[in-house]
Amino acid sequence: MNWEPWTGCYKISDGCTNCYFYGPHAKRYGQNTITKTDKFDWPIRTKANGEYNIKGDKILPTCFATDFFLPEADEWRKEAWTIIKQRQDINFLILTKRIDRFMESLPSDWGEGYDNVNIGCTVETQELADYRLPLFLSYPMKRKFISCSPMLGPIDLTPYLSGVDHVTVSGESGKEARELDYDWILSIREQCVKASVTFWFKSTGTFFKRDDVVEKINPFKQASLAKELDINILDGKKLF
Ligand code: SF4
Repeated sequence: MNWEPWTGCYKISDGCTNCYFYGPHAKRYGQNTITKTDKFDWPIRTKANGEYNIKGDKILPTCFATDFFLPEADEWRKEAWTIIKQRQDINFLILTKRIDRFMESLPSDWGEGYDNVNIGCTVETQELADYRLPLFLSYPMKRKFISCSPMLGPIDLTPYLSGVDHVTVSGESGKEARELDYDWILSIREQCVKASVTFWFKSTGTFFKRDDVVEKINPFKQASLAKELDINILDGKKLF
C-alpha cells in the first residue's frame, strides 16, 4: 500500500531513463502530466465511526509513482506536510531523486525534522552520489536512508554513511534495463558492514551479472532471487 497524493513525473537523472512513470512507458503505467490524485487526503480520511481509514503503526511509502519534491507540487506539498504531521502514528517513507529541493520544500515548523518521516536519497551512480549525498547529509532529518536504485555502476558510499540509518540496493527492470553486477552489490554490503549500517538487496533487476555471466531474470523472481542470496543485514528492520 502506497500513498500517491500526486502523480506524474519527468526525467531528472540517469536512473529515470526506463522509469515506468515517465517516457515510453508513461501511457501504460502513469503519465508525464503532474496532477493531484483523488487519494490526496487519504491518510486523514475517516470512516463513519470517526476512525481513520488507514490504521496506524505502519510504514507508508509515499510518492513512489512520482517525486515528493517536484517543483510542480510546491503548493500541494504544504497541505501534504499537514497531513503527515497529523498522522504521527504512521511512518512516512519518502524517496527522492530531487534532494537538492529539500530545504526550500519544508514546512515552517520542520525544525530538526518530523519524527514520523524517513527521507531516502536515491543515487544511481558515483557521480550522483558525490553530488546528492553531501547535500543530503547536511540537511535536518530524523531518519535518513540511501537507495542505490537502479544501481548503474560501482558506488563508493564510504564517505557518506555516517548518520545514515539504512542502505537499499536494486537493479533496473524492463526490456531495456541496464545490467547489475553482483560485485557492486557485495561491495556496498561490505561498506555497510564496516559502517554498521543496515543493508537490503531488494531486487536483482532484469539483467543480473554474476561470475561474468549475465542472466535474464523473470520479473516475478527479481526480488526473491535477491532474497535467496541471503546477504541482507536488516537487524529486524524492513523499510518497504
Ligand atoms: S524521479 Fe522517479 S518517478 Fe520521476 S521520472 Fe525519475 S525515476 Fe521516475
